[in-house]
Amino acid sequence: MDRNEPKIEVASLRKSFGTHVVLRDINLKVEPGSVVALIGPSGSGKSTLLRCLNLLVIPEGGRVRIGTDSFSFGQTSRLPRVKEQARFRSNTGMVFQHFNLFPHMTVLQNVMEGPVSVKRMPKGEAADIARKLLAKVGLSDKMDAFPNRLSGGQKQRVAIARALAMEPEVMLFDEATSALDPELVAEVLGVMRDLAAEGMTMIIVTHEIAFAREVADRVVFMRDGVIVEEGPARDVIDNPTQDATRAFLSHFH
Ligand code: ADP
Ligand code: MG
Repeated sequence: MDRNEPKIEVASLRKSFGTHVVLRDINLKVEPGSVVALIGPSGSGKSTLLRCLNLLVIPEGGRVRIGTDSFSFGQTSRLPRVKEQARFRSNTGMVFQHFNLFPHMTVLQNVMEGPVSVKRMPKGEAADIARKLLAKVGLSDKMDAFPNRLSGGQKQRVAIARALAMEPEVMLFDEATSALDPELVAEVLGVMRDLAAEGMTMIIVTHEIAFAREVADRVVFMRDGVIVEEGPARDVIDNPTQDATRAFLSHFH
């Protein structure tokens, strides 16, 4: 792959649920090591777009590329086979609003699970990786705890470590802090900020506008399945050019 090529490329992406068109013609490029904040009102298609990037949702048309791996969708292209879908999905680490940790496994086991069961990694090796990642998210002291003993912020940091354990090329965050008590938001944003500083390529769906302004390279504003405006984070947030963007951002002042 050309080093200067975008890490993520979405072209003419379309998705409907029944007669409801949710993504109209999405084109998006994310440069390697950069952070894109995806903002927009509820129902605008942000989650659907992220889910198309890891094939949790299969688009009707268009193309998605992550690194060297790409899929085209449409009448003439066949659907990806299950095995191909699994391989493609392994390019992305996804973190959701709700953490979905395995309740019957310890924190360490949660982080080891993907490498052991999907990659068939020996347990000792997976445990080494998991310990390193838990140290990175500040949870070395919680390795042997079960998820129900953790705060929401701690659970979400485990979820991030678990996603990283699969060594994804990109990380996708879908409102990772929206379900957290306000005092727990900063610890999760801190981990996301560290990842960005290390050069991870990320798309972050967030309502934390100040965080987006500070950490994202670019901001993409979506409404009704369309990208209305995008540009350098500070330009879009401080000086939006579109009425819809201005109206949306006015809710956060
Ligand atoms: P956002 O994340 O921006 O709030 P979503 O991508 O979740 O938006 O949803 C966009 C639109 O698609 C909404 O109107 C939602 O109701 C609809 N939608 C999302 N997922 C489904 C689904 N699985 N079936 C039917 N409609 C869906
Ligand atoms: Mg959503």
